[in-house]
This record gives sequence, structure tokens and C-alpha cells, in this order.
Amino acid sequence: MPWNGGDLQEEVRRRSGTPVAACYQCHKCSTGCPVGPEMDFLPSQVMRLVHLGAEEEVLASRSIWLCASCETCTTRCPMAIDIAGVMDALRILAVERRIDLPDARGKQFHRSFLGSVRRHGRVYEMGMMTAYKVRIGDLCTDMDKVPRLLAEGKLSLLPHRSGGIRQVREIFRRAEEKDGTP
Ligand code: SF4
Ligand code: SF4
Repeated sequence: MPWNGGDLQEEVRRRSGTPVAACYQCHKCSTGCPVGPEMDFLPSQVMRLVHLGAEEEVLASRSIWLCASCETCTTRCPMAIDIAGVMDALRILAVERRIDLPDARGKQFHRSFLGSVRRHGRVYEMGMMTAYKVRIGDLCTDMDKVPRLLAEGKLSLLPHRSGGIRQVREIFRRAEEKDGTP
């Protein structure tokens, strides 16, 4: 692991458009992150890993995939660093370098999510969660929450198609053309 993160830091700065090098480790981002307790590296630690050029560690971390893009960190940073944008840039880099997600369930969740968007032009939550649960072989966990979610209108039994489904499918087609994988 090099002590000068030059290449990685510059790549992240270029992609996120934010002054990632300006982080001085005040940890305000980490103390406000709602997902922090579940992360293997807190947002400020992710920034430090970028500084150090610790590419393998940061791109294989759970943190970049657990980040919910809520932007709490971004609004708290005294150096106006867009930490959520850094997380986006790191996710893109991880996908481009075909780094396996640290948790196999994460991969299945993303497959189910994208499959649903491709099919309906938007997420059909019930279908997506069913596909996900079949893929991970766990049909029972959290099923007790379904009746309440249905009653509160948070879940719909039937899918709704997006009016922009043709454009969404065109985005998938172009992405596959560029990436070479379905
Ligand atoms: S954007 Fe991500 S890293 Fe930042 S506070 Fe939200 S969940 Fe945490
Ligand atoms: S809030 Fe900003 S300066 Fe402070 S640790 Fe986080 S990224 Fe670095």
C-alpha cells in the first residue's frame, strides 16, 4: 500500500469533481453518517484510504456499497468535500475493475434491483424483493413486515410501468454495448 495515494486520489477527484485531498480528518462526516455503525470503514476512513492510495482495501470495502447517498456527510463537511460523490466515484471504479462485492447478498440485491428497473422502467418493490429472496435462498426473513407495508400503501401487489420505459431500456442497451455483458 503506497503512502502517496496520487493516482487513486487524482482519479477520485476527477470523477467526483470534489477536492478530496482537502480532508483533514475532523470526522464530522463519520459522526453524522446513519449507516456508519454497519460500515467496515467510516466515511472519514474511506477518505484516508483514498489519500493513502489503498485501492484494494477501499474498492473491496462494504462501506462504499452500504452508503445510502443521503448526503448528510456532504452537508456537514467543513471543507465542502462531496463525500457522497466520492462514494459514487468509488462504486463506479469498483464496477469497472470488476471487483466482487464483499457480501454476496449485495450482488444479488443489485441484480434484482436492476432487473426490476429494466423490466418496468422503475422499481417494482414486491417483484424485486421476491427475486432477491429467491436468489439468496431466504424467503422468510422480514416477511412479517409485508402485511403492514401493504396496509400503509408502501408496497403494491401489482407493478406500475414507467412512462419512460423505452428510454430506460435504451440506457440498459447502451450500457451493455459499452460493457459487453448482459
Ligand atoms: S452519503 Fe453515505 S457516507 Fe454520507 S452520510 Fe449518507 S450514508 Fe453516510
Ligand atoms: S467532514 Fe470533511 S474534512 Fe472532516 S473528515 Fe469528513 S471529509 Fe474530511
